[in-house]
Amino acid sequence: MKLTKSLILTLTLFKWISCFSQSISYDIVIKDISVLDVRHSKIIRSQTIYIKDDRIAKIEKSKKYEKILSDTIIEGNGKFILPGFWDMHTHICWKDNLNNLFPTLLGYGITGVRDMGGDVNILNKFKQQIKNNPQSGPIIFGAGPMLDGAEPIHRDFSASLTQNNVQQVLDSLYSQKIDFLKVYSLLPKDVLNSIATFAKEKKISFAGHISEYLTPEEASALGQKSFEHLNRLEELQNDTDRFFTFIKLAKSNNTWLCPTLIIYKRKAEFAKNEFYTHPLYHDLDNDMKNEWEEIKKKWQNKNLTEEEVLYSQKRYENQKKLVKSFYDNGIPLLLGADFAGMQFIYPGYSLHEEMALLNTIGIPPFEILKMATYNPALFFGLTDLYGTVEEKKMADLIILNENPIIDIKNTLNIYTVIKAGKIVKNI
Ligand SMILES: [Zn+2]
Repeated sequence: MKLTKSLILTLTLFKWISCFSQSISYDIVIKDISVLDVRHSKIIRSQTIYIKDDRIAKIEKSKKYEKILSDTIIEGNGKFILPGFWDMHTHICWKDNLNNLFPTLLGYGITGVRDMGGDVNILNKFKQQIKNNPQSGPIIFGAGPMLDGAEPIHRDFSASLTQNNVQQVLDSLYSQKIDFLKVYSLLPKDVLNSIATFAKEKKISFAGHISEYLTPEEASALGQKSFEHLNRLEELQNDTDRFFTFIKLAKSNNTWLCPTLIIYKRKAEFAKNEFYTHPLYHDLDNDMKNEWEEIKKKWQNKNLTEEEVLYSQKRYENQKKLVKSFYDNGIPLLLGADFAGMQFIYPGYSLHEEMALLNTIGIPPFEILKMATYNPALFFGLTDLYGTVEEKKMADLIILNENPIIDIKNTLNIYTVIKAGKIVKNI
């Protein structure tokens, strides 16, 4: 009996010691850092964050004297930590070498993307790559090809749908495990109805442009989950009653807006030369550079009249006001820069431009950071894994050298980036 008791005691002690030693063997510990609580717009100072495998294992108030054993200890004093950014409108899956941009995206703190149209095989190849090696790029949710009408706008990356082939195309995409359906501008009403029915049946979503054949009200009522850009939405601007009726409807249908305001800035300023001398321009692949050069020539040859320039500037001013009105009236926003959908949008960098731009129209930095981090998690129904710096969440994190709440441009002052629990940007 005595022997058994002492054996139990020894075993308990052994268990306690092994638990203890387990509890201190973290992969990364970030000491004494300010956490940006993007959900509640507050800064929580002096926190120590313990990372184990791909998760945030523990967060606690920093102690003055603490003995931490870890392979990697980051001194967070004076620094700020927030969840990784999501670019919710990009086109990275249309060319099979574009995974060479993944390190650039991670370097800019983008740990997740929503691919809004490309090639389904490339999408699946890239997703597999990230699954095998989570540190090699951002997590991707993608649509495969854009679904457009019989005469698609972008032939290369679209499936042209009619009432005759819609079921077959959707079945095929679903069997290839696309994450959602991307709808484009020329889809007829009856085909969109079929897409909406299919999406409901399969419990997936459809998102994209508002079709030219539908009003924004009809698209929202049909269940289109997000509206990309401002297509068709500008028509609400001159009719206050219609605008507010739409707001009510969109909220009741949980319709999101991804305004990609940066593309309208580009459109308004295409005549400017600065885009062609941007340092990141030289890092792009030749095909893309050639495409951009073509557009540059086209714009330079346009010789816009003063009137046309003024018109385009005025339209851009109205587009900014429109985005602000949607924000003011509680329409949930997503941030996207439309890389490869629009020329002179730089991978990674332009999402930061979008953030800075939204700040210039009067949206506070905390709200913008929430749109770039928490809103995507909410949109995908993944708030248990992503979107905040909390225990048990994925360790997809950005550490900034300066406070982005004081100046949103500090999102570019990145100390390091952690993806799935490992440092991916050199410090
Ligand atoms: Zn796009």
